[in-house]
Amino acid sequence: MNKIGIFGGTFDPVHLGHMGLAIQAKEELMLDRVIFIPAKRQPFKLKRKVAAEEDRVHMLRLALEEQETFEISYTELETDEISYTVNTLQRLKSSYGNTEVFFILGTDSFLHIELWHRAEELLTESSFAVGSRPGYKEEELKACIGRIQQAYNTPVMLLNNRELPISSTDIKKRIKKGQSIEQLVPTAVERYIYEKGLYR
Ligand code: ATP
Repeated sequence: MNKIGIFGGTFDPVHLGHMGLAIQAKEELMLDRVIFIPAKRQPFKLKRKVAAEEDRVHMLRLALEEQETFEISYTELETDEISYTVNTLQRLKSSYGNTEVFFILGTDSFLHIELWHRAEELLTESSFAVGSRPGYKEEELKACIGRIQQAYNTPVMLLNNRELPISSTDIKKRIKKGQSIEQLVPTAVERYIYEKGLYR
């Protein structure tokens, strides 16, 4: 059976925290492919100003250029609806057939997953691969995993990734202040951000 990882996000911009998480998930879970799904509008971030879709997608393409098993799905960008993960997963699963699906996400996102749209359904739709991210309480995470595994019988894997204190919000703040983002995004993405004058 094929194993794929589904990795959703705003990717505004994609950064090395995202890449580290996806690479770790691929290696640890022996995934055949990781599919990045840029969101049109994220339900919890509706008020935020987001860079143009073409720019977010272009930066993702640049970041994924050297990763043969990573690809992009445009499924959420192709509709005008809010991007609800439960709908995306159901849509993708029906097109893949006999495949084991892992939804990849960071601890900050996972800790709120019970508040996501149609959470009960979502939590029975796939397995989850959770990558650490600085700033969460371990007891809180363990309690959340235990609760979800018990209530929904959902497999939840905690990944052994290196915690990277990187976020898209911080990158945008740094650009506004004229600080370097060199260690935070892939080089080609950094170049594109400066060439296009994004986030200034
Ligand atoms: P923002 O700063 O706008 O909240 P973000 O950096 O969290 O953005 P998103 O595109 O919203 O980026 O994140 C997509 C997914 O990647 C989420 O599941 C998030 O938890 C995860 N993620 C983002 N950054 C990291 C990181 N440094 N380490 C591990 N996971 C991360």
